[in-house]
Amino acid sequence: MENNKSVVWPQGILISLIALCGSLSLGLIMPTNQSHSEIQRQSTINAINDTGVKTGTQRRLKQFKTAMLASWQQQATLKGISYTIPSRFQGAIINQAKLPPTDKVIALTFDDGPWPDYTVKVLNVLRENNIKATFFVVGQNLKNYPNLAKQVVADGHVIGNHTWHHWYHFFNQQAAAFEIDHTSELISQVTGAKTTLFRPPGGMLHNGLASYAKNNKYTVVMWSADSVDYSRPNASALTSRVLKQAKPGGIVLMHDGGGNRSHTVAALPQIIKKLKQQGYRFVTIPELLELQDKNYNLIANTKKQKQVAR
Ligand SMILES: [Zn+2]
Repeated sequence: MENNKSVVWPQGILISLIALCGSLSLGLIMPTNQSHSEIQRQSTINAINDTGVKTGTQRRLKQFKTAMLASWQQQATLKGISYTIPSRFQGAIINQAKLPPTDKVIALTFDDGPWPDYTVKVLNVLRENNIKATFFVVGQNLKNYPNLAKQVVADGHVIGNHTWHHWYHFFNQQAAAFEIDHTSELISQVTGAKTTLFRPPGGMLHNGLASYAKNNKYTVVMWSADSVDYSRPNASALTSRVLKQAKPGGIVLMHDGGGNRSHTVAALPQIIKKLKQQGYRFVTIPELLELQDKNYNLIANTKKQKQVAR
C-alpha cells in the first residue's frame, strides 16, 4: 500500500530529489576521487609486484621485531637483573639447602658454558619441561659466545660466576680479583644480570678463589649430587647416579660446556622425568636459598613462640 504512494509523488519533487542525491554523491566522490584512483593504481602495482611487497612487509616486520628485542634487551641491561640472596648466605659456602624431607625441591646447575650446541640443547630440554636452572659460566666462553648467555637469561635461568679461565692453580688476591670480577663484569655487560653466585672450578675451596669470593659477599655454591658427567657415562648410568644422590634441597652438578656434553643432553630428559615422578619440583639457586631462609625464620619463630608459651 505504501509503495503505491511513492508512485504518485509529484514529478517536481522526484526531480529535485534526484538532483540532490546526484550533487551529494558528486560532493562525496570528488574529494576522494584522487585517492581512490591512487588506491586503484596501488592495487594494480600490488598485483604486479605481489611477491616483492610481501617480502617488503616481512622485512619490515622482521626489522620491527629486531628493534623490539633490542630495546627489550637494552631495558633489561639498563634495569639490571639482580638476584636476591638472603644475607645469611652472602659470603657463605653452601652444598645444599637444609629443608624438611617433605620439601621436595631440587636445583639443577650447569657449569663451564656457554658452549656451542650443548647450551642450546640443554635450554631446549629445560624449556620443554618448564624448568628453571642455574648456569655457572666461564668468562672466556661468555666472551666467545655472548648470544648463548643472553638466551640463558632470556629463558629465565640464573647465571653464576665460574671464573674467567677455569684454572685450578693457586691465585693471589690480584689474580683472584681478575678471575672473578672480570667475569661478573662481562656477565653484567652481556646479559644485564648482576650475580653474586660463585662456583670454584673443580670445587676447589683453598686456592685463593673461594676466599676472595667470600670476602666480596659472593655465595660459594658447591653441590650435593655430582653427576660426574664429564667422564661421559652413558645416559642411563648418568641418570641413576643423579637419582641416587637426589634429596630435598639438593644441588645437582652437571655441565653444558667444556667439551662433548651429548651424554648430559641425552640423560637430562630422563633425570627430569624421574625426579618429577618422585614429586620433585625444580628451583634456581636463589630460590633454593630463599626457601632455606624462610625455613630458618620459621624455626626461629617457632622457638620464640615456645619460649613465650613457657
Ligand atoms: Zn667447571
